[in-house]
Amino acid sequence: MITPVLPTYARVDLEFERGEGPYLIAADGTRYLDFLSGIGVSSFGHGHPQLLDALVTQAGKLWHTSNVFRIPGQETLATRLIDATFADTVFFTNSGAEAVECALKMCRKYHHDTGHPERYRIITFDGAFHGRTLATIAAGGKEKLLGGFGPPMEGYDQVPLGDLNAVRAAITPETAGLLIEPIQGEGGIRVVERAYLEGLRALADEHELLLIFDEIQCGMGRTGKLFAYEWTDITPDIMPIAKAIGGGFPLGACLATENAAVGMVPGTHGSTYGGNPLAMAVGNAALDIILEDGFLEQVRDTANFLNQQLGMILERYSGVIEEVRSIGMMIGLKCKVPNTDLINALRARGMLTVGGAENVVRWLPPLIITKDHVRDAIEILDQACADLGVEAKTG
Ligand SMILES: *Cc1c(COP(=O)(O)O)cnc(C)c1O
Repeated sequence: MITPVLPTYARVDLEFERGEGPYLIAADGTRYLDFLSGIGVSSFGHGHPQLLDALVTQAGKLWHTSNVFRIPGQETLATRLIDATFADTVFFTNSGAEAVECALKMCRKYHHDTGHPERYRIITFDGAFHGRTLATIAAGGKEKLLGGFGPPMEGYDQVPLGDLNAVRAAITPETAGLLIEPIQGEGGIRVVERAYLEGLRALADEHELLLIFDEIQCGMGRTGKLFAYEWTDITPDIMPIAKAIGGGFPLGACLATENAAVGMVPGTHGSTYGGNPLAMAVGNAALDIILEDGFLEQVRDTANFLNQQLGMILERYSGVIEEVRSIGMMIGLKCKVPNTDLINALRARGMLTVGGAENVVRWLPPLIITKDHVRDAIEILDQACADLGVEAKTG
């Protein structure tokens, strides 16, 4: 008999009653160090007082009106995102996939409205993940996501990640844009070379394509900069974001330059909930926290410490962990044992993590963790590796 909840998830048999900063607490009182943050969402930990206050205060005033009317929180948050980035305009959504959808529609509409309706194809990269709607699974290109759902939506051409010549070869007179995650999350924390991203910008400029960076997982401070593109010398034309921007409240956004957004006139796109007053209250509060003086410096500092410590674990347990892939607090432990073995061993020791492709265990801790939390995490990792029965090197 089918379960009351559509059984689309392979869930861990564990549930939580409350959260406190970087901890999740089960009904029996067991505390877990939450190093997956709801997959890069709860970046400010659980129950952050500023987010809580923003949500509760707004909840007492007004939840929802409709995009039929002006929503002041949208105007504030959009303006602040624009001031902090390359963008000139913002569309608000409820999720990451919808933010990518907006980006894809915008890209096609741009070419349509600038005299090239034949340009609608988007080049994507192997290992990509862009969401679970029909368009975003076509963009992701993985058989695992596409299988059984009929012919994939037309217009996506996938190339190997890291090969600029492959991109060049894939560009045709029908190509409209390039869509890439500057760091692949689901793909196993594959950090894309800065020079490669800069090469894509050059190709986009040469061929009049729009460059779309999916920063849904790597954005909002995850890498130690507000957005990952800031580690390069270039900017995208369109950037879908989500996950941490709502700190756990469903919120996404699609940022764009004025040029890229030229076709998005009244009536071309919309969302019932997108950017409603509750979401905007939380989104603005999340941005307050991340833009506070010293917040991102602290993230980089703690992340450096964490990565140093991971280097030591890698040396000690080279039989368990093959490679540490990381930028800031976006960390992938590529395993020699099945990644689920390490995830289970960590959980048994009180720490929550999540898998990724390429046999990787992902660590996406809340950005608010301190060096003490790092020490605890490293201690747990040390024990979990030992539990897996792979001998530690004694020197
Ligand atoms: C999570 C994610 C998405 C999809 O976001 P949803 O909110 O699940 O729709 C898209 N792209 C990337 C890079 C992601 O990590």
